[in-house]
Amino acid sequence: MSASPKKHPPTSGGAPSLASLLERDLYTDSLDCVHCGLCLMSCPTYRVTGRETASPRGRIYLMRGLAEGRLEDSSLLEEEAFVCLGCRACETACPSGVRYGQMLEHTRAAVRSSQQGAGLAIWIERFALRQIVPRPGRLWLMVGLLAIVQWLRLDRLGALVLPRRLANMTKLLPSIPPAAERRRMPPLTSAIGPRKGRVALFEGCVMPEFFGRVNDAARLVLSRAGYDVIVPRSQGCCGALQAHGGDLAFAHELAEKNAHAFDAEIGELDAIIVTSAGCSAALRETENWIGEVGGAVAAGVRDVLEFLDEVDCELDLKPIAMRVCYDDPCHLIHAQGIAAAPRRLLETIPELELVAHRNPEVCCGAAGIYNLTQPEMSKQVLSPKIDALVDADPEIVATANPGCAMQLAAGLAERGIEAAVVHPIELLERSSRP
Ligand code: SF4
Ligand code: SF4
Repeated sequence: MSASPKKHPPTSGGAPSLASLLERDLYTDSLDCVHCGLCLMSCPTYRVTGRETASPRGRIYLMRGLAEGRLEDSSLLEEEAFVCLGCRACETACPSGVRYGQMLEHTRAAVRSSQQGAGLAIWIERFALRQIVPRPGRLWLMVGLLAIVQWLRLDRLGALVLPRRLANMTKLLPSIPPAAERRRMPPLTSAIGPRKGRVALFEGCVMPEFFGRVNDAARLVLSRAGYDVIVPRSQGCCGALQAHGGDLAFAHELAEKNAHAFDAEIGELDAIIVTSAGCSAALRETENWIGEVGGAVAAGVRDVLEFLDEVDCELDLKPIAMRVCYDDPCHLIHAQGIAAAPRRLLETIPELELVAHRNPEVCCGAAGIYNLTQPEMSKQVLSPKIDALVDADPEIVATANPGCAMQLAAGLAERGIEAAVVHPIELLERSSRP
């Protein structure tokens, strides 16, 4: 696919609209792509479809068309922008430094802001991402209702009687943890033994509801490693899901809230620790999203595994004699370049056998809420991943992102595989338990 002759980016008279500002950024960013095609085979949607328009190069060509006002019919771009997983494997493969993740965010926001009268599915998605996900009380209530549905086994009934798409959604849900696990963490956990420093823990929105045990494991391991762990109460949702859905303005509001939540303590902190790869990737964008006021948060964010590896934590580890596959979350390996640290940490656990499987760096198809909005493509992307795990035959699959954990667990369960899916920090917690 060849580039069109260079034109000036679109301009508009009077105050520029959000869409035109985003398109201007898109135009500038698109110039980095030299159309070499080296990213193509790293793209899961291109590998599934073989369509140029479902490849990074093809999408960038469409994005540039949008920015230059050349697209007479934008429906193809609208479709391909949301069929893209946002996995950013193309960024890792690109020799030209294309910032594809940012371009995708801007494209989706431009598409959504220019759509007249959103359809029902978009309206429901936006309502859930604005009115439920970032509001802890409402989310707690919704998850509580889901727990009752699961307790009454209505989800199994639903899987039989609901339309296929809705039935598939119920299969992706993990068992809702008991209420005791869904509580907020204590505001301060003191270091055990000689004190090495002080960190803040970022809780996230979905994590406390579905994966409170992961945040708790991080808190305990950090305190055993000699760190005071604080949990600022005014923190909130990171905005990743909203940004992926094209609601960049709301994602920026959430980023501002978090910048203020950590502001008072930031000078005293060694890091802001995050257990979800999607959240840490979004928090690292805080400065790009809201400017200087977000600089300290963006600079201070560390994935929990990255931090423990970086500070060379000393933990008294007991053996875990199990075969473990580590699967890379895209937002850790491609968005943040973190691949070796989780493996190095797992290898410190005595008797744990780290087993390699094929293509651990390829997306599992979870991609935020992609497995809900694009279930067919998500399944096709997941399938080779599950094949690779079946061949490696681990007892445990470790991954560092909640969406990936749910997707892998659902994929393994569908094939009747019993391997447990956990966060690596849970294994470190179990191994370092006094
Ligand atoms: S983000 Fe992933 S799915 Fe989207 S174009 Fe890049 S490699 Fe393909
Ligand atoms: S590798 Fe980079 S420069 Fe080459 S086509 Fe892909 S995005 Fe463009």
